[in-house]
Amino acid sequence: MTGTGGARSRMLIGGEWVPAASGATFAVWDPATGDRLADVADAGSADVRAAIAAAGAARESWRDTVASDRYATLQRAVAILRDRQGRIADLIVGETGKPLAEARGEIANSLRFFDFFSHEALRLPGEYWPRVQEDRDAYVVHEPVGVVAAITPWNFPAFMVACKVGAALAAGCAVVLKPAEQTPLTALAIAEAFVDAGLPAGVLSVVPTSDPAAIGEVLLEHPEVACLTFTGSTAVGQRLLAGAAGGVKRMLLELGGNAPVIITDDVEVDAVVRHVVRARYANAGQACVAANRVYVHQGVADRFVERFTDAVRGLRVGDPWDAATDIGPLIDRRAVETLEDQIARALAGGASLVAGGRRVRDTATSAFLEPGVLTSEGGIGVFSEEFFGPIASVVVVQDDDEAVRRANDTTYGLSAYVFSGDEGRGRLIADRVRSGNVGVNCALTSDPALPFGGVRMSGIGRERGRAGVLEFLESKTIQIARR
Ligand code: NAD
Repeated sequence: MTGTGGARSRMLIGGEWVPAASGATFAVWDPATGDRLADVADAGSADVRAAIAAAGAARESWRDTVASDRYATLQRAVAILRDRQGRIADLIVGETGKPLAEARGEIANSLRFFDFFSHEALRLPGEYWPRVQEDRDAYVVHEPVGVVAAITPWNFPAFMVACKVGAALAAGCAVVLKPAEQTPLTALAIAEAFVDAGLPAGVLSVVPTSDPAAIGEVLLEHPEVACLTFTGSTAVGQRLLAGAAGGVKRMLLELGGNAPVIITDDVEVDAVVRHVVRARYANAGQACVAANRVYVHQGVADRFVERFTDAVRGLRVGDPWDAATDIGPLIDRRAVETLEDQIARALAGGASLVAGGRRVRDTATSAFLEPGVLTSEGGIGVFSEEFFGPIASVVVVQDDDEAVRRANDTTYGLSAYVFSGDEGRGRLIADRVRSGNVGVNCALTSDPALPFGGVRMSGIGRERGRAGVLEFLESKTIQIARR
């Protein structure tokens, strides 16, 4: 089963479903089977310029739309997406290889976010200062920044679109969305719901491409683009940030993570194992908030490693359409090779592979990897890198201070986890960890109301929640003489 029946393969520019100006297409693959799912229009510079022009033409009328009308349009899109969520979940499974239950969870969660953001459109802020000085009043309006370029990754192809497009549209911005080349079909299906909901032409365009670097340059150089919101690797984020300097564009960057897990010696080990397995191995470990590095107190280390490896060995790798499957394939061969190289370097550095970590099966474009666990006596250089797949590292620590020191020994700061039988101790550790998000005695989940983002090299700005909408607004201060 491919689940792509009826999927859009043209791009969306100015309200029209069009082929690339060059006529080019690129293939989208199912990583679980190696099957070719679709050939999608391959946007070039001319297509992206046309999408930006359409957004530029549409942005003022969308900005000036009465709040209740904007809300109504976004709500119609939510209703259409709700009707189509089964089909979109199938697209997600096909493009990413994630298990069907996870794909269904992702689109359901995306709906909650689109719904939340539609309500935010009803309560955009404003302030008024009567007689701020003797001779004048002042007010501040929060205007949409204008045209927003959004670049999304493949690991959550619906949810990342919801976080960016939902918030930007609610703020009154027009959006040009460039989805990841591995997963354009989900983004196109979501955009189709907005078109069918009556979103005015040009307010949302989608430009899939096989050449993201070239398209990224157009988005950065075009004077009409006011803001770029990007989720992806730190390396690409750095390049985009440098490229944005010329146009002084507003940048929102959600970048890589390398989440530490700190486990104190007073925990109930089995409960912690359940949380850490979820936090590490969901989505085959391909999540920015995934628990990468476990620092476990020596008092519970042996028991933790034994139970944890047992639980990891119990995870089922296989066909993502099978309800019994916990872990599907990695997204592509490059991802597999990167992870295998990291495992090899960890072993060369003295780590032991105590579970999994080997290829189970190859497909034409990717491979399935057994979920694995690496242990080591002390820290190893490669553990400071993000492992974007189903491999955890476990290091035994002497006390809380060592755990915090090791947890912070990274350039990342997206998410962290603390498990302690003593809530006060857990909170104290959470305070000391340098991270934008911390789960204390729980795996992190996304909530529409809660802001999310990284510190240090994990990013700039906040997504989700009210904060995520405010990022797409900028204030204008107006002083008016009193007569
Ligand atoms: P990636 O940076 O290679 O790709 C992400 C997006 O950027 C894709 O749409 C891709 O086409 C585009 N892109 C690639 N090169 C580009 C360039 N030169 N100019 C413009 N766009 C370009 O990332 P990936 O490996 O596909 O995704 C995984 C990474 O994303 C991981 O590091 C992960 O931690 C991170 N991520 C972060 C978050 C978060 O919220 N912080 C969420 C999900 C993923």
